[in-house]
Amino acid sequence: ESDKLAGFLQHIIKSKGYQDEVLVIKTGCFGFCEKGPIVKVLPDNVFYVEVTPLDAKTIVKEHVIKGRIVEKLLYSEPDEEEKIKFQENMSFYKKQERIALRNCGLIDPENIEEYIALDGYQALGKVLTEMKPEEVIELIKESGLRGRGGGGFPTGFKWELTYRNKNDKKYIICNADEGDPGAFMDRSILEGDPHSVIEAMAIAGYAIGASKGYIYVRAEYPLAIDRLVTAIKQARDYGLLGTNVFESGFNFDVDIKYGAGAFVCGEETALVNSIEGGRGEPNAKPPFPAESGLYDKPTCVNNVETFVNIPAIIVNGPKWYNKFGTEKSNGTKVFALAGKVNNVGLVEVPMGITLREIIFDIGGGIKGNKKFKAVQTGGPSGGCIPESHLDISIDYESLQSIGSMMGSGGMIVMDEDDCMVDISKFYLEFSEEESCGKCTPCRIGNKRLHEILNKITEGKGTEEDLERLTDLGEMVKGSSLCGLGQSSPNPILSTLQFFYDEYVEHVKHKN
Ligand code: SF4
Repeated sequence: ESDKLAGFLQHIIKSKGYQDEVLVIKTGCFGFCEKGPIVKVLPDNVFYVEVTPLDAKTIVKEHVIKGRIVEKLLYSEPDEEEKIKFQENMSFYKKQERIALRNCGLIDPENIEEYIALDGYQALGKVLTEMKPEEVIELIKESGLRGRGGGGFPTGFKWELTYRNKNDKKYIICNADEGDPGAFMDRSILEGDPHSVIEAMAIAGYAIGASKGYIYVRAEYPLAIDRLVTAIKQARDYGLLGTNVFESGFNFDVDIKYGAGAFVCGEETALVNSIEGGRGEPNAKPPFPAESGLYDKPTCVNNVETFVNIPAIIVNGPKWYNKFGTEKSNGTKVFALAGKVNNVGLVEVPMGITLREIIFDIGGGIKGNKKFKAVQTGGPSGGCIPESHLDISIDYESLQSIGSMMGSGGMIVMDEDDCMVDISKFYLEFSEEESCGKCTPCRIGNKRLHEILNKITEGKGTEEDLERLTDLGEMVKGSSLCGLGQSSPNPILSTLQFFYDEYVEHVKHKN
């Protein structure tokens, strides 16, 4: 829809003879999906929402040509008459801190010069000309950046481990195999700011001693792939990838590998197997990829959101980054806010913010004035968090302490009409479907859990089945080989913990 709108705007501007003075730029996502398509008019900085092709005509005629703001296309907060002109004044953006998404919605992702104009490739230049690899690693360690793909492993330590494993060949992999239902953070970053990811991979390559990087991206992301292809070509043409980058003697290049949509390939050893052409199944660890990864060489795997923070940290320094977030969880996190919330979209918030602030201040509360029931964080393997924990700070440890997890950033809100037993069944079905089948607890255990849940939702369950769900869930968690199986029972276990009455209702209903 936005693409068509951009074409339409271009056509109108040309038909009015303004094509030499007014540029139509297709940017990446602004994040405010609920109010798209969005048109921002610069330099006035005016933010128009829910723009139709007919509205585009009005914007050109009134704003572009006559300089008059089109009031009816401005955003207003619910129950407020006053219209808001600027993005930063909207409650959706006020509590956000855009570091990973800094260029999304701001630059033309297909034009390297727009990226360079906003400090792009400055960080790479700095590390190649002023810093030793050990200093780069130290800087990232000081920043406290942790892996945004879900595990939360400290990025600087991961780089250090790979750096220390001496080998003539090493690899950098960008994990863009985003697979959580409802999550689209990585896609948006790749579509809106592909150069940041490429620049960060080159920096990581320099730090650990790798000359080759792969971006493993879902083949279902055609626009992200197109923009990556364009960005890689531009970076090569500008001498920012290839041999002797910044005349420093450093060689680094990036290629794209396509994932076929298997959720488990987001697990780093499965991803490595997939790039090598094998089955996308996880391996037992150790060895970790930092010791023996792609083609048995030391390999550093980071996800898209982790990488995109790197250039900003290097340009602004670790102290600047430490200002955001909590003591143990520094920086920001991007969430795909979805479900029964008024402002569905992509939000980037400082760690330490509460779930309540995200759902009610940024998200605008629950759709249709319904009552909040739960929020699920961490994708299919996360937990369902009830109202009593809405004031918990969002960081890796706090979410784990209540049976959920950060995950890669899916955040799905449920209201009073949602049945939590059905919800846990939905997520379990997803994990069961995506299980690679390599280990028995996950392959068979999830099937048995599913059968018990079916029994309960069909009104044939017993109180003993609830005990079985807990015991089997704990067993699958404790004995599965990889993160998928180790976390697949989380939705069941957390709903049993916080919404036990609903399970009991189902069981009683039978009687
Ligand atoms: Fe495969 Fe599940 Fe075992 Fe992971 S836990 S290796 S997905 S069967």
